[in-house]
Amino acid sequence: MKSIQKLLLFTLILTFSSLARGQNTTPERTKLVVGIVVDQMRYDYLTRFAAKFGDKGFKKLINSGFSCNNNHFNYMPTLTAPGHASIFTGTTPRTHGIISNSWYNKFEKKSVYCAEDSSVHSVGTETSAGEMSPHRMKTTTITDQNRLHTQMRGKTIGVSLKDRGAILPAGHTANGAYWFQGREEGNFITSTYYMENLPKWVTDFNASAKAKSYLRPWETLLDINTYTESGADLNDFEGGFKGKETATFPYDLGALNPTNGGYDILKVTPYGNSLLTDFAIAAIDGEQLGADADTDFLTVSFSSTDYVGHNFGVNSKEIEDTYIRLDRDLGRLLDALDKKVGAGAYTVFLTADHAGVNVPSYLESVKIPAGYFDSDGFDQAIRDFVSTAYGRDDLIEDISNYQVFFSYKVLSDNAIDAEELQKKIAHFALQYEQVNKVYTRAQLQQSGFNGGMEELVENGFDQKRSGDVFVILDPGVISYGRTGSMHGTGYSYDTHVPLLFYGNGIKKGKTYERTVVPDIATTIAALLGIEFPNGFSGDVITEVME
Ligand SMILES: [Zn+2]
Repeated sequence: MKSIQKLLLFTLILTFSSLARGQNTTPERTKLVVGIVVDQMRYDYLTRFAAKFGDKGFKKLINSGFSCNNNHFNYMPTLTAPGHASIFTGTTPRTHGIISNSWYNKFEKKSVYCAEDSSVHSVGTETSAGEMSPHRMKTTTITDQNRLHTQMRGKTIGVSLKDRGAILPAGHTANGAYWFQGREEGNFITSTYYMENLPKWVTDFNASAKAKSYLRPWETLLDINTYTESGADLNDFEGGFKGKETATFPYDLGALNPTNGGYDILKVTPYGNSLLTDFAIAAIDGEQLGADADTDFLTVSFSSTDYVGHNFGVNSKEIEDTYIRLDRDLGRLLDALDKKVGAGAYTVFLTADHAGVNVPSYLESVKIPAGYFDSDGFDQAIRDFVSTAYGRDDLIEDISNYQVFFSYKVLSDNAIDAEELQKKIAHFALQYEQVNKVYTRAQLQQSGFNGGMEELVENGFDQKRSGDVFVILDPGVISYGRTGSMHGTGYSYDTHVPLLFYGNGIKKGKTYERTVVPDIATTIAALLGIEFPNGFSGDVITEVME
């Protein structure tokens, strides 16, 4: 045989054998993108707890993937709903419109929740917990763009304990989004926005009593004496559970759950993340994700990290154990993906929806400036100031999310100049203790800021939905109880979050160049070769791609 014929034959054999091997070869196009969000995950958890992580979870993503070590939110408020929307739409609240978890809606004249939707019904529960949809999110997600690109053949499934953690990432065109209904139920549920009945794999999962199996004692995974990366177990900065005097290990969830919301207690323990991991693996099987040539999306948002942080604080033994256990759960998820989809055949990214502040009462105890802000007192002071200055008490419709909302009708009926009112309130608020900066609607609509806290406020400002005056507190100051952590500001303790890429199409490496959260969806779109989300403002992080 001539050498050229030999070569041809060899090539043919190679081609056929790789076709026959199917998933064992690296496809050009990734078969499944898994977008993981860890609720309230600070960047420094990756470094602080590194010695306690195994080889199959966070370290696998870092060592075999790409880590962006200087990744930040570029807007405020840094909260769950804006976070999830921004990660998947590749833009900020000023464009996608999810300006908070809940906000005062000046058109409906009431406070609205980001995902509430009275036009749909619950599926899988008799309660109203399923009356949810992504209808308030104005732009498309990367998951929507993949659906459009594949003529709706590529699937999207979103899972989380929180409804907004499942719904916003999965986008407008999702095949399904599922979240956890605790209380006496302990089931994953959905909404008629997606389907009329739960699929069999979900009802099977609910019937398996997995949730019940986690109502067991929570002890530290490793010897608690080796947890040298967190504060003492017994301290003054933690909440704990009703029915147990101290916030110290162990916690008997079987005994504590009746007085702590039934199955909802799982949310405030690492077992909530374990349960979600079980459910995500069931989704890969149940939906046959990554099984054909069209790229599918699985979005997984781990919420327990946020609940544990709010209850025990970011420096607690409880948060350390939660991350050590999440590392093992991540390992389980990656193992399942290797087995079911094939190593190298899928792509993962992992980030957070916001980070979190150290408990201010703890910071004060070690002489770092911090404190607690009396929001109600401040709101009353603003109202009193305006009624004294204008002789009427109907100019302000609402004060929420550190924003003042004017009554435009009263202003216009009485020929009151809105900009003058903005300026007067701003001047008054700046005299108030613990208020650091104040911005007005006029400032935000007239100037384009380029950096600093100003840019973060501007990126969080939706011209239609947002308020008229914006108040920013001092660093380390929150409006919250004296135990547990909070988030929401534009300071680095809230904005600095991990960003890891791993798998098909991803290079090994790391960068300390600044990246921002909206870059994620843009980068994934470039990787897939699909259209960017329609409101995108992020850049492609070219270093991560092979
Ligand atoms: Zn939170």
